[in-house]
Amino acid sequence: MTFSPKVWLEQAPPFRRRLLAWYDLHKRDLPWRETQDPYRIWLSEIMLQQTRVAAVIGHYQRFLQRFPTVEKLASAREASVLAAWSGLGYYRRARMLHAAAKKVGKEYGGKFPRTAAGLRELPGIGRYTSAAIASIAFGEPAAVVDGNVERVVQRLSGVPMVGESVWQAAETLLDSKCPGDFNQAMMELGATICTPRQPACLMCPVADFCVTRGELPLAEKAKRQHKRVVHYLLHREDDSVLLVQRGKEESLMPGMWELPEIQNPNGVHEELFTVRHSITVTDYRVRVLRGPVPEEIGGQRVAAVRLAKLPLTGLSRKILRKAEIL
Ligand code: SF4
Repeated sequence: MTFSPKVWLEQAPPFRRRLLAWYDLHKRDLPWRETQDPYRIWLSEIMLQQTRVAAVIGHYQRFLQRFPTVEKLASAREASVLAAWSGLGYYRRARMLHAAAKKVGKEYGGKFPRTAAGLRELPGIGRYTSAAIASIAFGEPAAVVDGNVERVVQRLSGVPMVGESVWQAAETLLDSKCPGDFNQAMMELGATICTPRQPACLMCPVADFCVTRGELPLAEKAKRQHKRVVHYLLHREDDSVLLVQRGKEESLMPGMWELPEIQNPNGVHEELFTVRHSITVTDYRVRVLRGPVPEEIGGQRVAAVRLAKLPLTGLSRKILRKAEIL
């Protein structure tokens, strides 16, 4: 039995049963899985953005000791929130968290909105996070797509789909009776079995439904060499832009400056626009995003007035021109 877009719907029910049974038995024991409190689930989702699970656990528990409820967080001073966040990096997340807690207190009487659409009205909550909270805390049948889910869906279907089509595929697969567990099971599968390199297909609970079993079919591989989607971050602050410099040893464009590439966008970024770019035999669809700067990027802020004199890659120059920065 294999998945294909045509039989996707028919095979979804047995797929769901198999995945959920596996998740029940094998899910990792994580503190945010012991609760349906939207505050706690929201906190875990924000902390997990660009941070590994193992690094989050201790911070999560300490933060909750300090701010056990959304009211406590809302009434705290920003300096205390930032101090409790210390060690997780990327403090904009903490500021947004604080702003959202205040909004929940002031505008929603201390209760979180119960739908993904409502949750998206809060600062720092995008499509992925709102669907995660709404499905886990409130049982709303809203699918999530992060890097793990995208990879699982691509491998199951054998189609290197991206963007909106992945969201649609995830919605089709979603178990509307247990959306929270289903979403977590898909992400867990991607994080522990269907890993980016060397997926453990022999241990995979849904291998019977999978077209690729770890390998994309040759025809699809060939296609992927000619078409690729990549994501670049356009992070602008005051009159500067965040850039990274390519290594001096890179075979392509060594030492040149470019916008940071985001390898696995997880729904926290917003798309500004796309550009097309071709290099030798590959056509790139370049999605330009704005939003949080992943910790690992580092980079350097460069004043916009200096950009013209900098050795920029052709693609970055194209993006900066389209954004009317250059
Ligand atoms: S069979 Fe392999 S490639 Fe397919 S979903 Fe399972 S782990 Fe991923």
